[in-house]
Amino acid sequence: MTVTTRFAPSPTGTLHVGNLRTALHNWLFARRHGGRFLLRIDDTDAERSEDRHVESIRADLAWMGLGYDGEERQSARADRYEVVFADLVARAWVYPAYETPDELELRRKVLLGRGLPPVYERTALSLGAAERTDLEAQGRRPHWRFRLDHVPILWDDLIRGPQRFDAATMSDPVIRRADGSWLYLLPSVIDDVDMGVTHVVRGEDHVSNTALQLQMFQAMGAQPPRFAHEALLTGSEGKLSKRLGSLGVDHFREEGIEPQALMALLGRLGTSDPIEPFVDPAPLIESFDFARFGRAPARFDQAELAGLNAKIVHQLDFEAVRGRLPVAMHSAAWEAIRPNLSRVAEAAEWWAVVEGPVDATIADEDRAFLAQAAQAASAIDWDADPWAQLTSALKEVSGRKGRALFLPLRLALTGRDHGPDMAALLPLIGKDRTLQRLRRA
Ligand code: GLU
Repeated sequence: MTVTTRFAPSPTGTLHVGNLRTALHNWLFARRHGGRFLLRIDDTDAERSEDRHVESIRADLAWMGLGYDGEERQSARADRYEVVFADLVARAWVYPAYETPDELELRRKVLLGRGLPPVYERTALSLGAAERTDLEAQGRRPHWRFRLDHVPILWDDLIRGPQRFDAATMSDPVIRRADGSWLYLLPSVIDDVDMGVTHVVRGEDHVSNTALQLQMFQAMGAQPPRFAHEALLTGSEGKLSKRLGSLGVDHFREEGIEPQALMALLGRLGTSDPIEPFVDPAPLIESFDFARFGRAPARFDQAELAGLNAKIVHQLDFEAVRGRLPVAMHSAAWEAIRPNLSRVAEAAEWWAVVEGPVDATIADEDRAFLAQAAQAASAIDWDADPWAQLTSALKEVSGRKGRALFLPLRLALTGRDHGPDMAALLPLIGKDRTLQRLRRA
């Protein structure tokens, strides 16, 4: 049996960091086991689903580097759902119910008022054919409920361990509305069966859905998949934060976050494995194992992401970033500047420093020293480590050392008191610009 996972977003908005994490884990697990990873667009809600969101979901997965082995769309599968539905109705797994939302709400309140659990009492199940005809003659159209088998529901969750629900304490779920539209539960099960999904990986907000869906697999005579329900993400404050729900790929891109950084963080956040700056996903794939996930909410910290991002940027090859660098910037320049960056976009600032002009404020006490530097710079061999030659020549003529030697040079040459290693920067600035900058001082 080929391991098959699916990421099943509803295209009602853009993906947020929690969705990206779920997608990633489905992908990692499939890749770990040489299996298939499917994208399933859950667009049964025609009103709220939009094509532009489908497109942004695809683009976000592409940006993250999560290639999928197939894309399915629920809206294209209505005929299939109809067939299964008819079969489940015929076998009395699904029954029509006629209560209005107001009636249901009233009943709920009555039960709660009596201190009873507000479980649907299956009034519709005991309606005779004549009563149903009557209701329909009054213009009532039924919605449809799945009739739970009142037995314990058990499964061994790959993250949460043994789970137990008592079906008798649960309401028969509505699976289809009176207008014929589908709720999420049943189409998802039909798809998982038809698409050979072996592992359902999703957030723990779906745990009670799983209990219901397990009986739907059973009703269809299908072997249910294994389930892994992940603890949700929290913000760095430790609370479930609203803000996390609005952090998506656009935000990360604007912040200069590389997809590899997001992958390295989300791949291991909430596991017992260390978070490491992997540029290549191979080690994340190899180590991916649900047994390593904890049950406590995982804390998503943007500062941690930024730190990881810098370590990723320091490893990126020129070819990988070329399109995002100033056109004239060459690979030696990238390599010299890279260790100093936290984001690729910052390379342009340092390249501007290389190309000049630079704006430098020179202290009076450094003027004579910089004049000496200009002389030394015109005498050295620029093809062999000019910085070492320049500083050792200057040490002798000026008697300066340490900070007093290096800082005025850095300031005059770059206009800043910090930055990439001068030994790497100086050959990029080159002889002419160096002389010009030192003489001007
Ligand atoms: N469309 C559902 C959601 O986004 C899918 C849940 C599932 O993975 O089954 O919550």
